[in-house]
Amino acid sequence: MDNLRQLKQVLQESVQIVFFGGAGTSTESGIPDFRSADGLYSNQTNRLQSPEDILSRSFFLKEPEAFYTFYKSNMIHVEAKPNAAHLALAKLEQQGRLQTVITQNIDGLHQLAGSRKVLELHGSVHRNHCVKCKKAYPIQEVIHSAQMVPTCETCGGIIKPDVVLYEENLDQQVMEQAISSISKAEVLIVAGTSLTVYPAAGMIRYFQGHTLVLINKEKTSFDEQADLVIHERVGQVLSEAMKN
Ligand code: NAD
Repeated sequence: MDNLRQLKQVLQESVQIVFFGGAGTSTESGIPDFRSADGLYSNQTNRLQSPEDILSRSFFLKEPEAFYTFYKSNMIHVEAKPNAAHLALAKLEQQGRLQTVITQNIDGLHQLAGSRKVLELHGSVHRNHCVKCKKAYPIQEVIHSAQMVPTCETCGGIIKPDVVLYEENLDQQVMEQAISSISKAEVLIVAGTSLTVYPAAGMIRYFQGHTLVLINKEKTSFDEQADLVIHERVGQVLSEAMKN
């Protein structure tokens, strides 16, 4: 594959690489994405409410029980292990060539693979806090709560995941750090994302380096802006590209 050879060369010759990924980076770990044919959007049993409706701030506040019923069975995957993509990126960081992983994912798999410089645009299922007193809770408290809706042992308030819900703003500091690293990158690898969720998707326009790489199973509306497009599985592509 010509494009793969080209990617291999780009990775070998660059030291300012940034990765920008989405749910497709974790499908090879068994976590469904949203928009693939076998993603959460097409497999939803509740046709009246879309995952976007349920994972919204107003729904969380109005119907915490229904929110947590969906969230616990669809968004928490503690059994999932990092796949070839996460491992290849951790190795690229260890080699001093990958500067930052910017992810829209909330599953914590990049950190589990060993990546240290990870910016989580949409937060993490592993961090949770009481909406009233702000006390922090680990994911286990959410999974094993006595009632469907986990509540604070100190003040009785509802515990909310530190996940950016629809209708909520991204953390300003995380966003600024992401924009700063994208604008300093010489190579930006965008992978496993439909690039439809904003403002995250809009961040790639800050890239001013020499090679924009797009790795996605399906076409995206950004394919034409990329210098190198590979329509294959990201784990397979990155592990191949990292081979000596
Ligand atoms: P998306 O579902 O909209 O798009 C995923 C894209 O990845 C699709 O275009 C699909 O073709 C592609 N893809 C799937 N598997 C792939 C693979 N192995 N290799 C290459 N490409 C692959 O996901 P999105 O753009 O990240 O937006 C969805 C939102 O949902 C994000 O905000 C994300 O936080 C959230 N989400 C996160 C997780 C997670 O944390 N793992 C899972 C589902 C959704």
